[in-house]
Amino acid sequence: MLNAEDIKYEQFSLEKIFELALRNDSFYMCYQPIVSTNNSRLIGFEALIRSRINDVRLRPDNLIPYVEKTGQIIELGSWILKQCLVDYKRLESYGLKDFTMSINISPIQIIDHDVTVEINDLINELGVCPKNIKLELTETALISDSNKISNTFARLREMGIKIWLDDFGTGFASLSLLRQFKVNGIKIDKSFVSNIATDNDDFTLCSAIIAMAQRLNLELIAEGIETPQQLQILNCLGCENIQGYLIDKPLALGDVITKWAK
Ligand code: C2E
Ligand code: CA
Ligand code: CA
Repeated sequence: MLNAEDIKYEQFSLEKIFELALRNDSFYMCYQPIVSTNNSRLIGFEALIRSRINDVRLRPDNLIPYVEKTGQIIELGSWILKQCLVDYKRLESYGLKDFTMSINISPIQIIDHDVTVEINDLINELGVCPKNIKLELTETALISDSNKISNTFARLREMGIKIWLDDFGTGFASLSLLRQFKVNGIKIDKSFVSNIATDNDDFTLCSAIIAMAQRLNLELIAEGIETPQQLQILNCLGCENIQGYLIDKPLALGDVITKWAK
């Protein structure tokens, strides 16, 4: 008998290896804590997909664009949504209360599929409070099929679900789109944060984004925080929440329970 570790996955095409991973339950979700900048209080988690098969092609940066191209993001995305909400309930059963779960969503899940029905069924079936669910979309989602996106956002808002813009500042969304789509919050991309302590331009950009979010009454999370210095600067600038290796890396559910559900 061949052990999973002995299989030479490189011999398979990406199509084959993805099918194998999906059918053999090789995907699992990791959860990265998001904390309050001034007192490190846990706010919630961002869900990030991982594969037990160690192949670079299955890392999220390669996997997600691939399944978006083939359309399989709809099947994978449904699995992700369900897993995140099942794990949410599990964390609650370990005593974690009133935390948020941020789930990355591809625009294809909205445009080619009705994600609202799916989420509505899941939150009812599992008994998850919708106000604790945040869907993260990148700016490109706002310029793909704006009518469909805007109608979907309206329905999600009615359900109580929050919409967040991911990687803010790296795409083409204008400030007016932020208002038009009535997003609840923005995530400052780690490319701006990484040099915030050493690069004047990045510092200026971050402070401008934070000031703008405050004026527009948007919630904020800065991602990719790796040093105490970055944390201190963001705290001074008034960025309320942060996420990054300085706090914790994305953790498998068991490790979240051990480290964060006390
Ligand atoms: P993202 O949504 O911007 O996620 C943040 C990425 O930054 C994650 O990479 C995370 O592991 C990484 N990260 C977190 N803290 C730090 C830090 O302090 N320093 C550095 N250098 N990196 C940090 P990951 O997990 O490889 O995911 C990459 C991208 O793939 C995500 O970017 C997201 O766009 C996509 N993705 C991941 N999981 C999912 C998913 O479940 N669904 C969808 N649609 N996309 C996903
Ligand atoms: Ca994200
Ligand atoms: Ca991001």
